[in-house]
Amino acid sequence: MFKLSKKVQALPPYLFLEIDKAKRKARGEGRDIIDLGIGDPDQPTPKFIIDCLSQAALDPANHRYTLDQGMPVLRNAIGDWYKRRFNVNLNPEAEVLPLIGSKEGIAHFPLAFLDPGDISLVPDPCYPPYKGGTILAGGAPYLMPLVAANSFLPDLKKIPLSARKKAKIIFINYPNNPTSACASDDFYTELIEFATKNKLIIISDLAYSEIAYDGYKPRSLLEFPGSREVVIEFHSLSKTYNMTGWRIGWACGNAQLVAALAKVKSNIDSGIFSAIQLAGVAALQGEQDYLKNMCVLYQQRRDILVQGLNVLGLNAVKPKATFYVWIKIPAQADAISFAARLLKEANIVVTPGVGFGQHGQGYIRMALTVSEARIKEALGRLKKIS
Ligand SMILES: *Cc1c(COP(=O)(O)O)cnc(C)c1O
Repeated sequence: MFKLSKKVQALPPYLFLEIDKAKRKARGEGRDIIDLGIGDPDQPTPKFIIDCLSQAALDPANHRYTLDQGMPVLRNAIGDWYKRRFNVNLNPEAEVLPLIGSKEGIAHFPLAFLDPGDISLVPDPCYPPYKGGTILAGGAPYLMPLVAANSFLPDLKKIPLSARKKAKIIFINYPNNPTSACASDDFYTELIEFATKNKLIIISDLAYSEIAYDGYKPRSLLEFPGSREVVIEFHSLSKTYNMTGWRIGWACGNAQLVAALAKVKSNIDSGIFSAIQLAGVAALQGEQDYLKNMCVLYQQRRDILVQGLNVLGLNAVKPKATFYVWIKIPAQADAISFAARLLKEANIVVTPGVGFGQHGQGYIRMALTVSEARIKEALGRLKKIS
């Protein structure tokens, strides 16, 4: 009866729908499903953060609208954290903006800079809001293939002049979801040169910087020379402190870009619940042992899963960061049918790579967010059907 806007009609189809439906149906039938599809930590938020929230929730001063730009105490804590973690100096007033989770900021940002006919350079495969945010802002995504032969980094030299001219934004996400690839220093240096030359804004999505293994420390793009002119970086407490449901993250970097996002958001939302902001301060300033232990836990799961998959003849490399394993499936298989078969025959849910974009075809993603025992059980089931 009502006609959807052209923008909403242009949004990509939700390719995980069929898998979601099949998963619900299987659970409904009482089947014992191992869900390796979900990118959501299985462990709880550390108790000291919950305690801080409980206390703060009792204080009526925290019950009212917050400032749109976030509480100064949180912006300062974010600035201090960037200094400690990356040795990057941020001005908390002008270069930091708390968000209701980084997803909303990433999806809203294109509204500030895209006009109809403008382009965003978007990796393929990618986290879906890069495409969705671009389309909802009236722009068009230009897809940059992420392929194994180029270490799942976009090949900037291959982006045609016509796309460079119309592009306003380039999205980058390392450590990467879904491929778990990491960026080299050389790539970041080349990227900043490319963006500067072509007058592009770089959106750096750094959601997984703290989930890393074997001593690897992912870097912030803001550590690199020239970055402050062109970069807005998004970060989140979701993966670092098991706080996906809390909705708290931030944007930081170039002051004009941060201010533009703040202006868009001031027309859309009214800030983060103060008690959650204070809990965010506690998370950033508290003991970081919990995080270290989480990485040890994921690393053990990673080693078991990747080794088991390799024994079964499935081609997967150990990720240096993120809690995803990106797995090449047999050449003749289609990712969606392969995932459907794993659900039907082994009661295992995985994410078909093609759900993140065409270049995810031929891959599936497994998440390390289930216990070691369940990973072993999943490997046993895979062995039976392979
Ligand atoms: C999980 C994730 C985020 C974080 O989202 P929040 O909205 O902060 O919970 C951002 N980017 C990527 C690629 C992710 O996988």
